[in-house]
Amino acid sequence: MKIAVIGTGYVGLGTTAVFAEMGHDVVGADADQAKVDNLNRGIMPIFEPGLKEMVLRNMKGKRLKFTSNNREAIQHGEVIFVCVGTPPRATGETDLKYILSVAKEIAETIDTYKVIVHKSTVPVETGEKVKKIIKENLRNDVEFDVVSNPEFLREGTAINDTLNPDRIVIGAESERAVGIMKQIYSSIKAPMIITDIKSAELIKHASNAFLSTKISFINSVARICELSGADVEKVAEGMGYDKRIGRSFLNAGIGYGGFCFPKDVQAFIKIAENYGYDFQLLKATNDINEDQKKYFLKKIKDKLKTIDGKTIGVLGLAFKPNTDDMRFAASTYIIPELQKSGAKIKAYDPEAMQKSKEILKDVEYCNDPYEVSAGADAMVILTEWNEFREIDMGKIRDLLKNPIVIDGRNIYDPEEMRQKGMSYASIGRSDA
Ligand code: NAD
Repeated sequence: MKIAVIGTGYVGLGTTAVFAEMGHDVVGADADQAKVDNLNRGIMPIFEPGLKEMVLRNMKGKRLKFTSNNREAIQHGEVIFVCVGTPPRATGETDLKYILSVAKEIAETIDTYKVIVHKSTVPVETGEKVKKIIKENLRNDVEFDVVSNPEFLREGTAINDTLNPDRIVIGAESERAVGIMKQIYSSIKAPMIITDIKSAELIKHASNAFLSTKISFINSVARICELSGADVEKVAEGMGYDKRIGRSFLNAGIGYGGFCFPKDVQAFIKIAENYGYDFQLLKATNDINEDQKKYFLKKIKDKLKTIDGKTIGVLGLAFKPNTDDMRFAASTYIIPELQKSGAKIKAYDPEAMQKSKEILKDVEYCNDPYEVSAGADAMVILTEWNEFREIDMGKIRDLLKNPIVIDGRNIYDPEEMRQKGMSYASIGRSDA
């Protein structure tokens, strides 16, 4: 099937690659000319495991190409997947300017029946808005369908998540559109939920809000663990065996970040507010998440006594492992706060340092964890990259000026750290 993908960021680029891999004829369009030029030269704008190989293979196989001309892609696609950003406004509400401008371009371009599919995360009733804009701006008298097909991939495992999703959600109003969507996904084995557009839009916000709430919940439990002397890792394990609860998203730490959870939680609060409902639970989720970063900062300060003049080594900058995405990463709050208090920062991340350099200034970027720890007064863990689990802690201890590790992701065992002579603080567990 001929497919257009508008917006080739973290979601859109993976979508082009996977659809092409499934045998579809795909054109990806992006407003960012430099991104498109690089893609056409085989240079990926983001780090995502397995992405580059899949993109290159399908470009070579002539099933995938990129353009900065949206209209070219729109004309090509029988189905147009919209994957542009939906950033938050200062108020927390979703800014739909990219979605709406693409809708207008689609209306002005199409001269035959098309299915317009939103993969971007949008507030409930956006489908209605887009339908109206397209109707008002159509240049040719053609039929079209708007579909909601929210994306649930996780950065770091995007390719596998797209090929093996837990479910495919299709919100559509016509049998014709549903039939086409089923055809597109025919090679993927996953439960398919076919519903109305509004319910599909809500499934996405409700899912992200729920997962965020799970994280804030365990972070609150972690506080009780610290106060009572219990171990949050054991509490989460004990809870997680209950099938009604599940172990995933019960990892205590510095809270959630990234381009999805923080903005989607705030957007959902606003959506509720606009309907006259006060979503108190989500407000608490958001507040706890914000507070968790401050709490971790306090932990660092308590452990070091004074921050002014100290050198602090930071391991992990991305908002989570296996991505270079720095959007709403804990590091973008913690590092500037430490700098404000007079700390000098040395840092290392396996993939995010290039993106980090554009955001975090006056940081000494290092080549590995050992270079970070050399001469530092303490080491702080902000992202749980597997690489950090494997480091030679004895060597780190010897390189640090003081053997202090403050771990925001609970990747080390307190008892082992104690045996190695480390002064170790983590989340929801007694200090070693
Ligand atoms: P992104 O910022 O990485 O990508 C968006 C892309 O759209 C950019 O490359 C930008 O240049 C392009 N763009 C903007 N306006 C355009 C226009 N008018 N025409 C063509 N291209 C345009 O964002 P993302 O992380 O891929 O997220 C996209 C959407 O998917 C958001 O709604 C997000 O909430 C949702 N989502 C993201 C993830 C994730 O893990 N990143 C997961 C699920 C859903």
